[in-house]
Amino acid sequence: MYQKIASILLLFIGLTSCFKGKHVDLIIHNAQVHTLNEQNSIQDAIAIKDGKIVEVGPERQILNKYTSDEDIDAGGKDIYPGFTDAHGHILSLVQQKLNLDLNNSQSFDEVLVRLEKYEQRTHRKFIIGRGWDQSLWANKEFPSNEQLNKMYPNTPICLYRVDGHAILVNEALLKKVNITAATKIEGGQIEVKDGKCTGILTDNAVLPILKFIPKYSKKEIKETILEIQEELFQYGITGVHEAGIENSDIQLFEELINSNQLSLNIYAMLTPSEENIAFSKKKGIYKHKNLSIRSFKVMGDGALGSHGAWLKKEYADKKGHFGALATPESELKRIATICELTGYQMNTHAIGDATNSLIFQIYKSLNEVNKDHRSRIEHAQVIDPNEIKLFSEFGVFPSVQPTHAVSDQRWAEQRIGKERLKGAYAYRSILANYGMIAIGTDFPIENIDPFLTIHAAVQRKNAENEPLQGFLTQEAISIEDCIKGMTIWAAFASFEEARLGTLEKGKDATFAIFENKVISTPNFQPNFAYMTFIKGKKVYSVE
Ligand SMILES: [Zn+2]
Repeated sequence: MYQKIASILLLFIGLTSCFKGKHVDLIIHNAQVHTLNEQNSIQDAIAIKDGKIVEVGPERQILNKYTSDEDIDAGGKDIYPGFTDAHGHILSLVQQKLNLDLNNSQSFDEVLVRLEKYEQRTHRKFIIGRGWDQSLWANKEFPSNEQLNKMYPNTPICLYRVDGHAILVNEALLKKVNITAATKIEGGQIEVKDGKCTGILTDNAVLPILKFIPKYSKKEIKETILEIQEELFQYGITGVHEAGIENSDIQLFEELINSNQLSLNIYAMLTPSEENIAFSKKKGIYKHKNLSIRSFKVMGDGALGSHGAWLKKEYADKKGHFGALATPESELKRIATICELTGYQMNTHAIGDATNSLIFQIYKSLNEVNKDHRSRIEHAQVIDPNEIKLFSEFGVFPSVQPTHAVSDQRWAEQRIGKERLKGAYAYRSILANYGMIAIGTDFPIENIDPFLTIHAAVQRKNAENEPLQGFLTQEAISIEDCIKGMTIWAAFASFEEARLGTLEKGKDATFAIFENKVISTPNFQPNFAYMTFIKGKKVYSVE
């Protein structure tokens, strides 16, 4: 009797769930789901199963059609595909976090205070600091190592200036490296006063020190990568195009992925070292779970701020100086040939108009062989206005960082003058020509916050809302386009558009629910993720 009732009951439950429709893992409803599909439609609800999107649609449709293990009422909040930072440096941020941070020290005394605190906290046997800038100090003079020698007679200390071109080291380190007041290094200066080294070494004189700088432990590096992942999730960032890694870093990422700790999507560009070139030839287009490797990051030239970017005409504020290529033309062409062979994408850092011009020509030949190489120019900062058309003509994918524009606005005109500014940070013109643009931050040079990127792209202002009227606002882009640059176009820029970038049936359920409405206002309004999901799994929640 009881058995009979039980089986009737089971049948009944079976039937109701049948009526209720299909079973999924997760339903999110009462939301503003920005699908970013072709129609740019906004829906109310998403049904998710096995990490994939089953359906996106109106509230009633999804709730009537599906039952689920878990149900989230999003309270009307905005949902977007997870953001991608299309140009970042996780591993540089790791170094920055592990080093003693000296950025914005207001005096050398402050440097010493920060140093003492850091030593007490970490007990490191070798201290590496970075970020001091004497131009912020009252006397504006380079510091010397006298106090460092007294405080730390035995612990080697190396403190980088903010630009990395000068360091202050103590006696203990000079002894270790065997540098004395009599040492001469070509292309570098060892500062000497009253017959003694002051501890200031510049340019090539920094190089002998580098060999002695110890590496942080693998354990510390891994912990810090996971800390960074958490910070990215807090902003709804679910993917990073890591711009240049060494061969040994591949293993580091894979170990974290295999232990299920790193779920961030990583599109890693390889540095063109011989080891990495061998990797590309042996492995070809390589995927390991959420890690994808099929590109090289190549250094075209230097930075505009330090007059390193290569310009067609001399710098406006440095007579007879043009900057230079960071990689010889023959080597750039050799890497292009390797990319042609392996199907790897070539992603070249190009800031100056001369470098961009050369890279267009190199990419032209790649484009003739394969129309879908999607060769990228990273930064595309100063372009000859007559050459903007070459993005579409030669199939060159632009990858830009709007926060650079608003950081550089203080001195950009000094460097290149008014005329060349017409092709500088020209995101709207570039987008109008190519139809897509990948957007990132270049962290840790800039902040990882994607809402600062939106602010810079749309309002053309920095976090302090400067400049008041915006910088070169004729090159501003819309918030919709900026978000596409961090989602679907970033996916195209990494050949992942079939899996990422929009919220549509069959794609990864990788998205973020945002705390506040995603908008852009003349005054910066902070925003954060409320919840972040990767492949249907909640990886971050405010609570
Ligand atoms: Zn970079």
